[in-house]
Amino acid sequence: MALGNLYIISAPSGAGKSSLISALLEQDNEGKMMVSVSHTTRSPRPGETEGVHYYFVSQTEFEQLIEQNLFLEYAKVFGGNYYGTSLPAIEKNLAQGIDVFLDIDWQGAQQIRAKLPSVKSIFILPPSLAELEKRLIGRGQDSAAVIAERMSKAVDEMSHYDEYDYVIVNDDFAQALADLRHILRAERLTTDYQRTQNAVLINQLLAK
Ligand code: GDP
Ligand code: ADP
Ligand code: 5GP
Repeated sequence: MALGNLYIISAPSGAGKSSLISALLEQDNEGKMMVSVSHTTRSPRPGETEGVHYYFVSQTEFEQLIEQNLFLEYAKVFGGNYYGTSLPAIEKNLAQGIDVFLDIDWQGAQQIRAKLPSVKSIFILPPSLAELEKRLIGRGQDSAAVIAERMSKAVDEMSHYDEYDYVIVNDDFAQALADLRHILRAERLTTDYQRTQNAVLINQLLAK
């Protein structure tokens, strides 16, 4: 069986990466995709569940996990809070042929590319800065101060777009979701992937 593919998805906060990933997973009938659950020191938003959206930990606990080498990558993102991706769950799922999505920032993306060069990365752009702010406000989850901080970091995050393999503009949601699906499909048609996925067929076809 072929290994699953590992994907990094980054975007300025509010561009729609969580909505795109959850829409993608909702339509995954085969259970062949999962999103990695990060650890964070930020407080849960209303409606966020421990172990589903994040593992919520204190700064002391997070620093202990760093010492224990749990993290494939970690970074301080917003409000001085740590965010990190733990390695064990990712490896287990990839080994079972499941595609794993990492919703992480550009700092984490750089760390993972350095360790796992086969990772594929996708950057989501909003159609405008005004629309980005509208979405952050419309989500109704963050205070005005938090929204202002996220807007001020947005240009910095977007300035890293060209370190990514693919770029999607999330203007029309359905179109952006279709673009994301096409990327995943194309990645499953690469020769490297098909060599393993279709090993039996290829051996039969080439047997004298
Ligand atoms: P969101 O951007 O509105 O989804 O807000 P969050 O507070 O959930 O995430 C804030 C930022 O941290 C986003 O840019 C995420 O991509 C990034 N982030 C989330 N999890 C991780 C992680 O495990 N590692 C790193 N480096 N960044 C992360
Ligand atoms: P992120 O995870 O990148 O921070 P979200 O997925 O939470 O962003 O999206 C931010 C807000 O924008 C949400 O309220 C979501 O419903 C909305 N949204 C996402 N994509 C679109 C789109 N193409 N058009 C309009 N609103 C969108
Ligand atoms: P929620 O509002 O709970 O974040 O999202 C509900 C569902 O609608 C999810 O599947 C999400 O991906 C999807 N969704 C979020 N924003 C949009 C949007 O702007 N347009 C469309 N068509 N779907 C969306």
